Amino acid sequence: MVKIMQRIYLDHNATTPVHPEVLEAMLPFMTEQFGNGSSIHTYGREARNAIDDAREQVAALINAKSSSEIVFTSTGTEADNYAIKGIAELQQSRSGGNHIITSAIEHHAVLHTCQYLEKRGFEVTYLPVDRYGRIQLDDLREAIRDETILISIMHANNETGVIEPMVEICEIAQEQRIPVHTDAVQSVGKLPVDVQALGVSMLSLSAHKIYGPKGIGALYLRRGTRLENLLHGGSHERNRRAGSENVPSIVGIGQAAAVAKKDREANIEHLNQLTGKLRQGLHEGIDYIHENSDPSNSLPGTLNISFEYIEGESLILRLDMEGICVSTGSACTSGSMEPSHVLAALGLPPQLAQGTVRFSLGKDNTEAEIDEVIEKVPKVVEQMRGMSPAYKKL
Ligand SMILES: *Cc1c(COP(=O)(O)O)cnc(C)c1O
Repeated sequence: MVKIMQRIYLDHNATTPVHPEVLEAMLPFMTEQFGNGSSIHTYGREARNAIDDAREQVAALINAKSSSEIVFTSTGTEADNYAIKGIAELQQSRSGGNHIITSAIEHHAVLHTCQYLEKRGFEVTYLPVDRYGRIQLDDLREAIRDETILISIMHANNETGVIEPMVEICEIAQEQRIPVHTDAVQSVGKLPVDVQALGVSMLSLSAHKIYGPKGIGALYLRRGTRLENLLHGGSHERNRRAGSENVPSIVGIGQAAAVAKKDREANIEHLNQLTGKLRQGLHEGIDYIHENSDPSNSLPGTLNISFEYIEGESLILRLDMEGICVSTGSACTSGSMEPSHVLAALGLPPQLAQGTVRFSLGKDNTEAEIDEVIEKVPKVVEQMRGMSPAYKKL
């Protein structure tokens, strides 16, 4: 008899499974309702109506004033690129302003876009963060110049879960009439995200982080915010993003948004409870560990822990053998371990950064699963440390 091990998935910040209601909503648009949203016959109108409904659902999730403020994109990455390059290119030709402010801990979709723009003549300030990952508002005030055309700060970080002070950031930006973009891919669905209360001009989100399909995202563009387009072609998305709409996926992100809105409060409570249990269990079961965010200011469900005398990548492989799926805080670049830019920005020494693991919980995780994790992780850590000469000397 082959025993099938039940795997425990604790990597929801990387991606989430598609919610059954989302799949159910999408399926007809991959079969009978295959129309092109631009066609004027019945097939086309069915697709168009579905796209309009999805736009309303996404707008409702983030409390946009109008669904016309939502532009569907291929991914969260595209939404980030569109917001940043779109402002940069437009302002370059208009005001000549060439300065962008962002943070050192952004997702690569923002960081690498800014680095690309630096090669094209833009200047970028990468704000530092404190040891919990928060930017300092005084640093932001000091960084603003006459030439500043955009402030792009993420709402919540994917590695540590730290939440940035978006309301205060937007207030400072507002005084200088500088538009603010926020990458809210991790916060949408896990925190109340209200674009009007936050005061942002632009906000990126992605379906596959909120139980929707991969390959579909959206950019909220507050009315009056002008951008240069990334893609040129037909008049789709009110002339803002050319290309025949990915109707099944758009229906999917709409349904994912509706489900997220309905379930958010219950999910937050569940995640907070499980994360608290996991945090406590790990601290009780293992010495020499450090938590890389302030629990009172971090995403429900994200727990980023550094284990001294442990190599994170090895721990992840060992846990995978035990059926526990987590990830590192580090990106593995062509075989050589490059410490995460986020952990480096927190001031973590490289050795500690290498021993870091991110647990990211989801709505379907159970207490029994967390019990199992709390039981297995200390054992694996103890075994691994037993082979470490540095640890044995203690
Ligand atoms: C996942 C993620 C993205 C990228 O979204 P994709 O849809 O996977 O391209 C951007 N920013 C953050 C913070 C993310 O977690």
